[in-house]
Amino acid sequence: MSRSAHPAGPRHADVLPEGHYSAPADDLNALDPKVWSHTVGRDADGVVTVGGLPVTQLAEEYGTPAYVLDEADFRDRARAWRTAFGADADVFYAGKAFLSRAVVRWLDEEGLNLDVCSGGELATALAAGMSAERIAFHGNNKSPEEIERAVRAGVGRIVLDSFQEIVRVAHIAQSLGKRQRVQIRITVGVEAHTHEFIATAHEDQKFGIPLAGGQAAEAVRRALQLDGLEVIGIHSHIGSQIFDMSGFEVAAHRVVGLLKDIRDEHGVELPEIDLGGGLGIAYTSDDDPREPHEIAKALTEIVTRECEAARLATPRISVEPGRAIVGPTAFTLYEVGTVKPLDGLRTYVSVDGGMSDNIRTALYDAEYSVALVSRTSDAEPMLVRVVGKHCESGDIVVKDAFLPGDLAPGDLIAVPATGAYCRSMASNYNHALRPPVVAVRDGAARVIVRRETEEDLLRLDVG
Ligand SMILES: *Cc1c(COP(=O)(O)O)cnc(C)c1O
Repeated sequence: MSRSAHPAGPRHADVLPEGHYSAPADDLNALDPKVWSHTVGRDADGVVTVGGLPVTQLAEEYGTPAYVLDEADFRDRARAWRTAFGADADVFYAGKAFLSRAVVRWLDEEGLNLDVCSGGELATALAAGMSAERIAFHGNNKSPEEIERAVRAGVGRIVLDSFQEIVRVAHIAQSLGKRQRVQIRITVGVEAHTHEFIATAHEDQKFGIPLAGGQAAEAVRRALQLDGLEVIGIHSHIGSQIFDMSGFEVAAHRVVGLLKDIRDEHGVELPEIDLGGGLGIAYTSDDDPREPHEIAKALTEIVTRECEAARLATPRISVEPGRAIVGPTAFTLYEVGTVKPLDGLRTYVSVDGGMSDNIRTALYDAEYSVALVSRTSDAEPMLVRVVGKHCESGDIVVKDAFLPGDLAPGDLIAVPATGAYCRSMASNYNHALRPPVVAVRDGAARVIVRRETEEDLLRLDVG
């Protein structure tokens, strides 16, 4: 990622403050296909369209803020993952990134499986008719009720995350007269995040059972002895927003090492290995994510090579992309409320949403891009910070970006790549009404998650 603190050329502000921003794009009206969903473009009037519909029309019909999801793009990306991994592997969409019944149906139709990590996500998946065998149930503290529900429903796998859970799931399955297929989630001491990975990270986190000190091997030992469990494999998830495949390489090496130890000790070759999710997407033009076919090729080669070296049959691989499928498929559409230039600093652009619909900037210091979408403009770029309407100075949606200098209240702006971890992490802070998710496809729009109403809020407040 190359970042310059001082973009070249004359700009709206004479002095630009220090910050982590790139120089403005040559043409602020251009929409980088890396960060926008596939069907996004501009019509003859300069209005941005998606799925054949102008955003001005969407704003009028559905209001702002709104998440606008490009269904064709979602299906394309889901299919690309499915095709890339082929029949000998499984792709589980990580539902926590964004889940709704419509999304479950699209995944089902495109041949993907589904990860859930709560009773609510499981209920959504089942309500949409996803077959339970294609559901994996995750989480570091599944309640007994959640476990029982998952076992009764017949989920394809439960991913076990602790010694207590091994016993708990075995007990519940047995009491229901079932044998539950499980994977054991381990931490391999690799921590991957965006551009770096650490191969010797401390396993100092709440997820998984550490490989270090023989704990993972002990977990497998115990699980193999329990009648209620059928141990089908080992699970490893190393991080999020990862671009560099070398973290997966080290993780796969260590997971295969465990499989080999299990074979040597117990005489069983576990048939599956799950390498988790975490593949990165482009939030700004500086990010260069890999294509699913490159990722599939790399992961398959790594596992095959490691297994050959360990003289193990290559297990069935599964992966769990969430962000990489849904992230790029949606943008958040906002209306500009105020434009406040601060001399020598930047211009604060307030929109009608904020940290309640996108907490990632405040939570992770995430970077986003933004564009004026209701018209084009030839005005000089101005350095902006897009902020929300909440009572919190950290209520920032886009920290540093450029928008045309003639931006005015009433303009529509959009933040791309908000499909993942925005609606799913949305809150009612300041009693904000969580925005709808509007799916567009082939010139038609439909609401797949409706906007909250004040009645919704008051219904929970029982007085
Ligand atoms: C969060 C998570 C994922 C998905 O991560 P993305 O970054 O959205 O791809 C997959 N597997 C597990 C176990 C997770 O916790």
